[in-house]
Formats: sequence, structure tokens, C-alpha cells
Amino acid sequence: MTEVVATNETILVVGGGISGMTAALEAAETGKQVVLVEKRPYLGGRVSQLYKYFPKLCFPTCGLEINQRRAKMNPNLSILTMAEVTDIKGEKGAYTASVKLSPRYVNENCTACGDCGKVVEAELPDEYNYGLSKRKGAYLPYRMAHPQRYVLDPAIIGTDDAQKAKDACKYSAIDLDMAEETVDFPCGAVIWATGWRPYDAAKIQPYGYDRIANVVTSVELERMADPMGPTGGKLVRPSDGKEAKKVAFIQCAGSRDRNYLMHCSRICCMATLKQCTYVKDAWGEEADISVYYIDIRAIDRFEDFYEKVKKIEQLKFIKSKPASIVENKANGNPVIHGVDTEGYKRYADEHDLVVLAIGMEPSVDKDSFPVDIVINREGFIEAAPENGGVFAAGSASDALDVNRAVQHATGAALRAIQVVSGAAGVEG
Ligand SMILES: Cc1cc2nc3c(=O)[nH]c(=O)nc-3n(C[C@H](O)[C@H](O)[C@H](O)COP(=O)(O)OP(=O)(O)OC[C@H]3O[C@@H](n4cnc5c(N)ncnc54)[C@H](O)[C@@H]3O)c2cc1C
Ligand code: SF4
Ligand code: SF4
Repeated sequence: MTEVVATNETILVVGGGISGMTAALEAAETGKQVVLVEKRPYLGGRVSQLYKYFPKLCFPTCGLEINQRRAKMNPNLSILTMAEVTDIKGEKGAYTASVKLSPRYVNENCTACGDCGKVVEAELPDEYNYGLSKRKGAYLPYRMAHPQRYVLDPAIIGTDDAQKAKDACKYSAIDLDMAEETVDFPCGAVIWATGWRPYDAAKIQPYGYDRIANVVTSVELERMADPMGPTGGKLVRPSDGKEAKKVAFIQCAGSRDRNYLMHCSRICCMATLKQCTYVKDAWGEEADISVYYIDIRAIDRFEDFYEKVKKIEQLKFIKSKPASIVENKANGNPVIHGVDTEGYKRYADEHDLVVLAIGMEPSVDKDSFPVDIVINREGFIEAAPENGGVFAAGSASDALDVNRAVQHATGAALRAIQVVSGAAGVEG
């Protein structure tokens, strides 16, 4: 049985992405006891699935590694992975949280040696790569995963594969009897950092994501550009593995549209500008890049990055919201149809690959919060007195880039510290 040591001075952080990790670490490093609950088998959230960061084009692994190190060194922080909060009762300063823990079937003895993965035969879609590749039924979610511990997929439990994995383990790390459990513990404040998810591109029917193999999303392109990703970092087409040199990006795919998401997702212009550099870096002079846009939203210092990317000679901007994409059946090329609003010319442009700059929506559905909380029209958490001791952090509150998400999370940590310090008799 898992035991969680906690009191009314404990801060519960839900979601272990960059925002949840930041809030948890900032609070734990002031001496507060923190329980961090993450539903995936590892920390890092969606940032761990990015190839590079705009605007500096550095690797996210760098910042994540620093946070993982801080987490390992802090005795005030308890981390529960494969865990979800199912209920929060009580009031500011005196909550009781119920957390459901799914079995990993692998205990702390795991050295991540990989022997179990070698003997297991079952292969399943790799969610870390958005299903673009497969992983074994015994797997390390990604190379820098924290904790560095394998997971057995529930799909292999009860099969020969599970037994083969157990027999291959020299460290007695595989426990096939692990079962789901629920733990209840007290806490004084809650930080809700459950982040965002990509808008379901298949809902944008005119763009044919569910019908045209060479229409992909921006989150998929992040994995395709990564040398550790499903294509080994080669920009090739999903349909036939052909080099994708002529690439189009469609902005506001699912955002700023009353049929889909009403809001501007704020980061997808920057994500596209960053991804234009991926295409240019891959093909140099042979790259041919088009960006279809309504307007480019590059705020504050990001404007400098926009100016820099605009200098790429192989890149052109087309001011237009495309009407539809159809497939040229002869060669698999997606053909974008629309009207260029500068000059009002109709176009039918054929590309090797089309990337939908997909919108960001809250990862938790409006009706699925296990606690009373004020949410706005888009489902993001509002800062409201009615939320009591529950505070949003990062992109659970809005579509934010990492820098802003981290700043917001630090603010949330401070508010939570004030609440639990009040519970301890110190005025916040
Ligand atoms: C294509 C694309 C490219 C991007 N590139 C950049 C970039 O270059 N630079 C930049 O600054 N920003 C970039 N961003 C934005 C960046 O991804 C976000 O700023 C960042 O992910 C926000 O972190 P977060 O922790 O708030 O949310 P997330 O990364 O979504 O983390 C939330 C965590 O909460 C967990 N969780 C969710 N629900 C539950 C639950 N019920 N219980 C427990 N845990 C839960 C999730 O598993 C996840 O680990 C990009 C976004 C996109 C779409
Ligand atoms: S579970 Fe055992 S075999 Fe598998 S990676 Fe961990 S230590 Fe190695
Ligand atoms: S950031 Fe750019 S692409 Fe994204 S919704 Fe806003 S305007 Fe559209």
C-alpha cells in the first residue's frame, strides 16, 4: 500500500508538466511539504515532447533536467506518477484529496536496464510520439523519463509477455500483482496544473487530417524533427517516407473559429516560426516553405524571432485562411485551396506535407474537475475568490508559452504557501 505523509500544511500539486514541477519545487524549496500528482508515468508534460524551444531554439531537455535534479534532491517533495485526483472535499486550509494510483507493475528496484523490453513481443502505439511509432509492452516512456523506471502496459498483463518480462528481470523489479489503489490524504491548498491538449484535428473536416496521410499536426512535427523521434529526425512523409521539402503550415487550425475553439491559442504562430527553421535546417536551399495565416501574433521579445525567421529566403507568407485540403491521389500530395486576401487570387497549392498549427485547449473537460472551480468559456481556470484554496498554474489557466507558464506557476506557489502558512497560524 502506498502511504502519503501529509497534513493541512501540505500543498497538493495536480499535473507534473513544467508548470506543476515549477510550482511544486518552488513551494518545496521554501520548506513546505508538497505532494505532486501526475497521471503519466513520468514528469515533464508536453514540453518533454518538444524538439526545440522558441525563441532561443535550445533543447527543452536542458530545463527539464535541472528540474528533475531539484526534485530528486528535495525531501519535502513526494511524487505520485500514474496517479489522478478523483475527489477533493473540504475547504481552504483543510481539504482531503483522494488519489487513484494505477499499477506500473515495476517497483523502485528498476535500474532501467531494458532487459524486460527486449524479451516482450507485444508492440503498442507510442503515445509519447503521438502514435507515429510503436513501443514495446514493457517500456521506458522516453529516454530522459523521471522517474527512470520501466512500465508494463496493462495490455500485456495476464499474457506470456508479462511472465517473460518478469523472468528477464535480474533485480526483482517486476511485480505482476500490483493493483489499482486509492489513497486519501489531507492538504491545505491545491495547485491545478493539468495543462493543455492539442485540439482534435479530425474535427476540422475541410482539412482532411483523418483522411490525408500527409496532413499532420504541429505537435506531430515536433516529434518528427527530433533525432530521437519516430523518423530519427528526418522530415519525411507519413504516406511513403518521401523527403518532405515543400512544406505548408496552416495557422489558426481549430483556433479563432466559432466552429471549433473561439480563442487564439497564442503560441501556435511562434511554434510555426520555430518549425520553419526545422524545415530550413533539414533541406537548406532546397526547402520550400509556405505559411498560410490570418495575422502573425508574436508578442514582446518574440517579434525579434519573427523578424529573424522572415529572412529565410525559402519562406513565403500567404495571407489567407485556407478553405480546404484535398489529396492528389496520384502522388499523395495535399493540395490547399483558398483565396489569397492580398490581391484576392484563388489558389490550389500542392505540397509534400501540410502541417496544421493546431490549437491548445484545456486538458481537463469542463465537467470533469473533481473540485468546484470557476472556469471560463474556453474551459481554462479563472482566478476567482470562489476557488478558495485552489489555484491554477500555467496552461491550465490559459494558452501560455513556457516562460509565461513558469512565471504563472511561481505565482500559484506563492498563493498556496500563503494559504498553508495561514493554516499553520502564520498570516499569509
Ligand atoms: C506545437 C507546439 C510547440 C510548442 N513549442 C513551444 C516552444 O518552443 N516554446 C515555448 O515556450 N512553448 C512552446 N509550446 C507551449 C508549451 O507546450 C506549453 O507552454 C507547456 O506545455 C505548458 O506546460 P504546462 O505544465 O502548463 O502543461 P502541460 O505540458 O500540458 O503539462 C500538464 C501535465 O499535467 C498532467 N495532467 C493532465 N491532467 C491530469 C490529471 N487529471 N491528473 C494528473 N495529471 C494530469 C499531464 O499529463 C501533463 O504532464 C508549444 C506548444 C505547441 C502546441
Ligand atoms: S524492470 Fe527489471 S528488466 Fe525491466 S528495465 Fe527495470 S530492472 Fe531492467
Ligand atoms: S497564435 Fe497565431 S496561429 Fe495560433 S490561434 Fe493565434 S493567431 Fe492563430
